[in-house]
Amino acid sequence: MSFKNLNLINPIIRAVTEAGYSQPTEIQNAAVPHILAGKDIIGCAQTGTGKTAAFAMPILQLLKKYTPEHKEIRTLILTPTRELAIQIEENFSIYSKYMPLSQFSIYEGVSIGSQLAALRKRIDILVATPGRLLDLESQRHIDLSKIEILVLDEADRMLDMGFINDVKKVLKFIPIKRQTLFFSATMSAKIREFAGTILNKPIEINV
Ligand code: AMP
Repeated sequence: MSFKNLNLINPIIRAVTEAGYSQPTEIQNAAVPHILAGKDIIGCAQTGTGKTAAFAMPILQLLKKYTPEHKEIRTLILTPTRELAIQIEENFSIYSKYMPLSQFSIYEGVSIGSQLAALRKRIDILVATPGRLLDLESQRHIDLSKIEILVLDEADRMLDMGFINDVKKVLKFIPIKRQTLFFSATMSAKIREFAGTILNKPIEINV
C-alpha cells in the first residue's frame, strides 16, 4: 500500500513524505480506510507502530472535507500523560503543515493562565489529559458541544491511572452523535467493557 492508495489527499501525503515516511505502517493500512469511512474503531496497538499517524492523517482529512465556519473545537484526543499530549500535538502539527487546521494541547504541570490565551483562538484539534480538560471545562474556557471526532489514546493506561471517572465526565459534554476511535495496547475484559459503553458498532483492528 502507498499513502495514495489509502486515498489520503495531497497536502497530507506531502507532509508525511517530507517527514520521511515512505509508506504506511500496518496499523495505518488497517485503520485509515475505516476512519475515512466514518466508522468507530477499537484498535489494539502498541506505541511505536505508527498509531498516532493512523488516526491523525484521516482525522485531518475528515476535518478538511467538512470545514464549516466555526470557532469550536471539532476533535478531542484524550491521552493519559503530558508527554503523550505534547507528542500527539507535535505529530498533528507536522501532518497538518499544508492544511488550514490548528491543534493545541493542554495538560497538568503548566499554569492554566498560560493555556487560556491559546484557547481563545480557533482550535480544530485539542489534545488533552482528562484532569486538565475538566478543570478548564468547569471554568467554561472550553466548549466541547461541537466535537465530531473523539479519540481515546492508550485507554488501558488511562484506566490504570484511575482516569475512568474523569473520562466518563468528559463524555457527558460531548455529543452522542460522533465518531469515536479507541486505542489500547492491551485488551482486557475491563477495557472491552469500557469500550462497549462509548463505541458504536466499532471495527476491530489488531496489529
Ligand atoms: P507512534 O506509534 O504513533 O508513537 O509512532 C512511532 C514513530 O513512527 C513516530 O516517530 C512516527 O513519527 C513514526 N511513523 C509513523 N508513521 C510512519 C510511517 N508510515 N513511516 C515511518 N515512520 C512513521
